[in-house]
Amino acid sequence: MRLRDRKVLVTGGASGIGLATARRFVAEGARVALLDRDAGRLAEAARELGDSACAVRADVTSEEDVRSAVATAVAGLGGLDGLVNAAGISIWRSFDALTHAEWRQVLSINLDGPFIVCMAALPALKASGGATIVNIASGAGLQPRQNFSAYCASKGGLVMFTKAIAMDLAADKIRVNAVCPGIVMTPLVERNLALHEDRDAAFERYISRNLMKRFGTAEEVADAVLYLSGPESSFVTGSALSLDGGSVFH
Ligand code: NAD
Repeated sequence: MRLRDRKVLVTGGASGIGLATARRFVAEGARVALLDRDAGRLAEAARELGDSACAVRADVTSEEDVRSAVATAVAGLGGLDGLVNAAGISIWRSFDALTHAEWRQVLSINLDGPFIVCMAALPALKASGGATIVNIASGAGLQPRQNFSAYCASKGGLVMFTKAIAMDLAADKIRVNAVCPGIVMTPLVERNLALHEDRDAAFERYISRNLMKRFGTAEEVADAVLYLSGPESSFVTGSALSLDGGSVFH
């Protein structure tokens, strides 16, 4: 029970990595508020997690939505000790086919989103006296990926945002870290694979890029987020933990 009585807000908590993280946190004794724009999946996830979870619907790009959702979450949980920014999207498009609207969409969800949520949660995190923020960045924020310019820019920005605010918030006893997963099988990746003419060939190409020759799992990412949100990482802040089967060496 590494997170006993900790109160944590997880954005993107209705699916994939966010949901796996919320499950893991609840199993470790935390109470969790799930924030997501997908009302249907959100309700399903909250039902699954039972009394230890509450759900708040919001779009992370809307300051108004987020302010009111964070207030509801903080009131429901009775404070806030942790934040996990997992809401995100990807658009797989060669640069010459990418529109400005698509670029803005990716940047606003993946980069403005964590900014807006961090800002709204900041007073409650400060009041905790020992809070954590974990941003779900990506290996694509450390190394370029073809046809992923907007996504790479958003995640590279998120890695540097993480490091910069770790400096600003240290005096408030808030540790801020990022995880940089390689490919993890979630609905987001299923949707990307489906765009390839030959899905199986694309799958093989992706797994050939790491040393373990497989995709990661959302549970493996959740374990890393747990480490960065729990007492074992008490001296860790401003880090970007790669979790990619060794892709960075490859
Ligand atoms: P997912 O699609 O399963 O989950 C993302 C969740 O974010 C969904 O529930 C979606 O409704 C929510 N969301 C999207 N836009 C939102 C918005 N504007 N406001 C509120 N909620 C919003 O995807 P996932 O793979 O679990 O991705 C989670 C995070 O992990 C993302 O930030 C993604 O970029 C990152 N990531 C994923 C992988 C991977 O391979 N799956 C790898 C590296 C990083």
